[in-house]
Amino acid sequence: MNVSAAELIRDDIRALHAYHVPDSTGLIKLDAMENPYPWPEALREDWLATLRQADLNRYPDPQGRDLQQALREAMGIRADMALLLGNGSDELIQMLALAVAAPGRKLLSLDPGFVMYRMIALFAGLEYIGVPLRELDFALDLDATLAAIEREQPALTFIAYPNNPTGNLFDAGAIERIIQASPGLVIVDEAYAPFTDRSFLARLGDWPNLLVMRTVSKMGLAGLRLGYLAGPAEWLAEIDKVRLPYNVNVLTQASTAFALRHHAAWDGQTAAIRSERGKLFDALAALDGITPYPSEANFILVRTDPGRAAAVFQGLLDRGVLIKKLDGAHPLLADCLRITVGTPEENAALLSALEAALYTY
Ligand SMILES: *Cc1c(COP(=O)(O)O)cnc(C)c1O
Repeated sequence: MNVSAAELIRDDIRALHAYHVPDSTGLIKLDAMENPYPWPEALREDWLATLRQADLNRYPDPQGRDLQQALREAMGIRADMALLLGNGSDELIQMLALAVAAPGRKLLSLDPGFVMYRMIALFAGLEYIGVPLRELDFALDLDATLAAIEREQPALTFIAYPNNPTGNLFDAGAIERIIQASPGLVIVDEAYAPFTDRSFLARLGDWPNLLVMRTVSKMGLAGLRLGYLAGPAEWLAEIDKVRLPYNVNVLTQASTAFALRHHAAWDGQTAAIRSERGKLFDALAALDGITPYPSEANFILVRTDPGRAAAVFQGLLDRGVLIKKLDGAHPLLADCLRITVGTPEENAALLSALEAALYTY
């Protein structure tokens, strides 16, 4: 038997490009919204003592009960709301999609937005509906979104709050209208919760179809892969059925629970990133040829002069700084680049590299 990939693999999968992660060896890494600060030194010994007790010969607790408890305490999740843990919030998006996927079912989101909504919709066999944001400020177009919901009747609607890659928060009243008008679930994705004061977590239960999704990745634990979904137990109990057993490993459960019980140390880091974000924004705004967009997240979207994004991106790379080029990813992102906020030293290095890349021809 000699079957080829072209015969066996679905056409829509073969047409994809694999998710590309560039090699960042030796570079200042400002491309992936990571927290630049390492595990707090003062907590290392106690953390390692916790890990020494972990039973790696045993499967993890299937529900991650101790970690769920730590999440409830750290995040103030209401006792009458259920939690579901994922191997990153990416896995939760996949579980949601698998649980509802059937011919004709749709997943709706706002574009430009988080690319995994579209990718996972395709993997699961859901039709993806992307409603364009407004051109000038990337605001949510409420009329267009409500019309698309009415027309498409999506099973799932994802709203990133704040949005990636634009960094802005959509109008909360508009999101409420969307939740009310939706025939399916609305998932408010709060991946950037540590960098904003706004949240829908306290609104859980106000509408039967609202779920809130978060992750510990952007707060500083991207290497652990832990996301969580909060909402009414009737929903989460069903979505839990498509979860692979033991999806969150022993070391991730123990490390994340430890970090959440010492969250003040990470709160200090994310507060420092928030204050750096303001300084970086002002410095970017002062540069000729770069327009930064206001951000409530740990990154800043910028627009270069027309046709200059690729050269600026490469100019930074030549000077040892890796950011994300978004030009070409969506029509509204023409000439756009995304810069993750780093340490003060990294941001200073970025700014001097940027000046050189902008003004040297
Ligand atoms: C980064 C990001 C995620 C993914 O988080 P993981 O928990 O690392 O999988 C989800 N949603 C948005 C909007 C993001 O930007």
